[in-house]
Formats: sequence, C-alpha cells, structure tokens
Amino acid sequence: MTTNENGNYTGKVAFVTGAANGIGRATALAFARKGAHVVVADISEQGNQETARMIEDLGGRVIAVKCDVTRASDVKAALSKTIETFGRLDFAFNNAGVEQKNAATAEIEEEEWDRIVNINLRGVFLCMKYEIPLLLKQGGAIVNTSSGAGVIGIKGGAAYTAAKHGLIGLTKSAALDYASQNIRINAVCPGYIDTPMMGRFTGGTDEGRAKVIAEEPIGRMGKPEEIAAAVVWLCSDAAAFVVGHAMVIDGGQTVQ
Ligand code: NAP
Repeated sequence: MTTNENGNYTGKVAFVTGAANGIGRATALAFARKGAHVVVADISEQGNQETARMIEDLGGRVIAVKCDVTRASDVKAALSKTIETFGRLDFAFNNAGVEQKNAATAEIEEEEWDRIVNINLRGVFLCMKYEIPLLLKQGGAIVNTSSGAGVIGIKGGAAYTAAKHGLIGLTKSAALDYASQNIRINAVCPGYIDTPMMGRFTGGTDEGRAKVIAEEPIGRMGKPEEIAAAVVWLCSDAAAFVVGHAMVIDGGQTVQ
C-alpha cells in the first residue's frame, strides 16, 4: 500500500456512489485531483458520464458505471468492473441518497418509507457488504453519507431521519467489525449543501433558499466541495486513528 499521508492517492482506487451530481460529483473530482483512479457509480447515466468527462478533463483515469444501489446485482457488477479495470479498491464513498416528500409521520405512505429506507440505508449496507471483501485485501477506508438529519430530528422528515440515524449506527458497528483489519469506516453528516437535491428541497426560489440559509449560523449553504474535502481527509492516513466517527459538517446548524 503506497502512503497517502500527504493526501497523494496515486495508485489508489476510489468508488463513489451518487457521483452524477452534487456531493458525489465533487468528491469524485476531489479524489481524482489527488491522483486516484475513480469509479463513478450512479443510477443517473447522463450525469454520471458528465462527471467522468470532468475527471478526464483533469487528466484522471475514470470509469462510469450505471448502478442502482438498491440492487445487489448492480452493486456487485459495478465492483467487479472496478477490479477488472483497476485491479483493486482502496476507498468507497457510499453517498447515493434521496430526499423524502415532506409529511408528518402518520401521513407517510408505506411505499415512501420503503423507498427512503431502501435507498438511503439498505443501499449503503449493500455497498459495504460487497466492498469490504475487496478492501480486506490491502486495507482501505469507507465513508458513508449520513446527514444533519442523522443527529437531530427533522419535522416532516421521519423516514429520511430514521434512515440517516440508522446509517450512523451501521457505520459505527461496521467500523468495530473491521477496525483491527485495516479498514476504517466513518460517516459524514452534511448540513444544507447547495446541490440539485437542495434545489428540489427549496423549490429553487430565492425565498426557499433564504429560509434554509436562515437556519445556518454561518449565514450560507455549504458547498459540495466542503464535504468532499472531509471525505478525502477521512480516507487519508492523516485520519489513521479516526474510526466509527460521524463527522458533522454543517456550518453550526445542529449545535444551536
Ligand atoms: P443529489 O444532488 O440529488 O445527488 C444524488 C445522486 O444520487 C443523484 O445523481 C441521484 O440520481 C443518485 N441516486 C439516487 N438514487 C440512487 C440509487 N438508488 N442508486 C444510485 N444512485 C442514486 O444529492 P446530494 O445533495 O449530492 O446528496 C448526496 C447525499 O448527501 C445523499 O445521501 C443525501 O441524503 C446527503 N445529504 C445531502 C444534503 C444536502 O443538503 N444536499 C444534506 C445532508 C445529507 P437521480 O438524480 O437520478 O435521483
């Protein structure tokens, strides 16, 4: 295993889900800028191809794979393609996720509950299930995307909040399972980040954005690159003693 103490990931391979947009795209680009080969995986083929082109423009090596994280067959095929192309897996960023339709708990349709938990929680479990055997070969790191909704309740968002809280429990338990085997597993908990998902959440209006920004002590939304920087750091040897941590990156939103 080459060292990455200085954040140099030359020779390393990073697998990123939800890479067609927002936080996943920014993180895929951040890994590429550090010299890693990147596998971008997303259900959205067009955006995923665009991310791959952006990495190629940086001079990076990348493959784009269509992958619905709720389908074990897709996840297995995407990881097989990773090994076939690059021969190894060092880092996985399990980030694909979707927002919930705003509804009080008793008004959440059963199908909506299942959709949210299936993508946001079970999808991450499936990814880890098939990534870990590959990471065990030489060690590595996993980062899962939880949310501020992983550490506080959100009115009108019980399904999303339950999935994101669950994701922190999953991360902590998996971290314990593999800490002695050279795999570190952590989570990031973003606050309001300016992505296509946030555009849907705010309705894309000035008023909607202002309402969200009013909840941020720092007075602005976060940028996807600010989450990407934390993910890349969590995968580096500088974070070698960081295990099972849920890192909140939210401009102070959840400490109020
Ligand atoms: P985004 O802009 O919507 O990007 C998410 C990507 O994941 C999209 O390309 C989406 O494709 C894809 N995706 C959806 N379902 C998938 C599936 N089943 N399999 C594979 N890919 C799938 O969202 P984002 O804001 O970057 O969010 C990324 C992660 O951060 C999510 O887990 C989200 O919950 C979390 N998060 C975001 C914020 C925020 O403020 N933005 C805050 C806290 C946590 P489609 O567009 O085709 O659905």
